[in-house]
Amino acid sequence: MLERDAEGRARLGGVLLESLARRPDVSTPFYVYDVDAMVGEARALAAGFDGRAHLICYAVKANTSGRIVRRLALAGCGADVVSQGELEVCLGAGVEPGKIVWSGVAKTDAELDRAIGAELLSVHAESVEEISRLDARARAAGKRASVSLRVNPSVEADTHASIATGHDEAKFGIPLAEVGPALDALASAPSLSLVGLSSHVGSQMTRVDEYVRAALVVAGLARDLASRGHRLSLLDLGGGMGIDYGEGCGARPADFVAAAIRAIEGVIEVERLLCEPGRSIVGAHGALVTRVVQSKRWSGRDTAGWVFVDAGMNDLVRPAMYGARHRIEPLTSGDAPLARVRVGGPVCESSDDFGTYELPTPLPELLVIRDAGAYGFTMASQYNGRALPAEVFIEGGVVTSIVPGVSAADWARARLAT
Ligand SMILES: *Cc1c(COP(=O)(O)O)cnc(C)c1O
Repeated sequence: MLERDAEGRARLGGVLLESLARRPDVSTPFYVYDVDAMVGEARALAAGFDGRAHLICYAVKANTSGRIVRRLALAGCGADVVSQGELEVCLGAGVEPGKIVWSGVAKTDAELDRAIGAELLSVHAESVEEISRLDARARAAGKRASVSLRVNPSVEADTHASIATGHDEAKFGIPLAEVGPALDALASAPSLSLVGLSSHVGSQMTRVDEYVRAALVVAGLARDLASRGHRLSLLDLGGGMGIDYGEGCGARPADFVAAAIRAIEGVIEVERLLCEPGRSIVGAHGALVTRVVQSKRWSGRDTAGWVFVDAGMNDLVRPAMYGARHRIEPLTSGDAPLARVRVGGPVCESSDDFGTYELPTPLPELLVIRDAGAYGFTMASQYNGRALPAEVFIEGGVVTSIVPGVSAADWARARLAT
């Protein structure tokens, strides 16, 4: 988490961001991560299980950095992957295949083959049709595959529409009405073993209610299956625990699992509980540092004008894609008078707009966009012929790695090769 020292200087993981930004080998915009704090989040979440057998499957899509996945693997985490690329990162980073689950509505044949070959903990099937296809691929390979049903518990998460996944219209999961047909498909799938149930109802949930309701639906279903002779070894409660982007977040990640466990305790005994947190592990412990490039007087919308920075929607797309708001602050805060300004990026899209903020006048040279550790770099693109941002990793209070992004020159070469 970003901290300020007595002089108002922003620090992450103990490192002074102002000094980092002024290093000759670091140029803006760049992401910076406090990896120790991410591992700390996983440890704090584990406490929510209160000694019960569990596995935290870090949802890698939030931040796919090998360094972060490696550290989480060392701390005992598994992974939730949604593509072969993510799986290869996890295997390469030392996550045991027996701790990896694979979600996704459209896994290709090649991906199913890779999942079967790697002997993952579970392929989370998201449709009846996928069950039959997975069985055929496993049979062709002469192997057995472990499968779970990712059910859609028909729970409306109180979050942005684009990141709610557990309601009736969502493309994710097996609708409750299709669970019967899914079991029929499994009965005629000799190469598959049903090992569990999972659900994931949405992202950035700030209260535990929907998480608990989904857990109750899944637990009730597990009890039905048990009475029909299906012995399930895992119940996966999903991810979606929110973080505080500046407007507060009433529940800590451990509260979600603790509340779900309390709710399902009398319903079913499960061998092992899983959860799939992404954002809550990495989000608050990353920041995007950007430089002010240009200001522009403008009398619209009750502001003093635009402030254009060198980070754009290609670096951090959440504001453009989800209407998300990140706190944007000077790297060093002081007592200069504040002015209301609109912060925009350089990309030629009207949606490349971070929103309205109070910033000091005169404008500082460097700004920090807070809580950018999740769905930041992983969603970055080179749209508009822009570079991919650099990433800086902090561990043990020092910078342990600086990874330059992909330069605009490399982008130009790649495009010229077409
Ligand atoms: C994205 C995703 C997650 C992680 O969601 P967060 O909100 O980042 O915790 C977990 N499970 C599945 C299946 C996902 O698609």
